[in-house]
Amino acid sequence: MELSCKQEEKLIVPFLKDSLDNRTKGQFLSHLEHCDSCLEELSIQFLVTTGMQRLENGDTFDLNRELKTRLATERRHLDILTSLRSVLYATEAISLLLSLLVLLTMVV
Ligand SMILES: [Zn+2]
Repeated sequence: MELSCKQEEKLIVPFLKDSLDNRTKGQFLSHLEHCDSCLEELSIQFLVTTGMQRLENGDTFDLNRELKTRLATERRHLDILTSLRSVLYATEAISLLLSLLVLLTMVV
């Protein structure tokens, strides 16, 4: 399901707090891939929330790179989950096929 920009905006804060479930996170990330304005909105919120924290801690930082790294990491995690899931489905399909074959050989 595609998210609208309005829905996407509501997810920015939960995303930054890392409180989205994987399904929602996937939708969130795929919206960002084709929506520059939401990506910009996310960058701003990220800069504001994380930037303020960092300023208080007095750390040096490159927030733009950090956000990119974070997005890439999340994406990779989801990709891994997705491929794991398809492997599981494949395994299930294979075992189903195998049991069918066994059944068939028994009948024949
Ligand atoms: Zn959008």
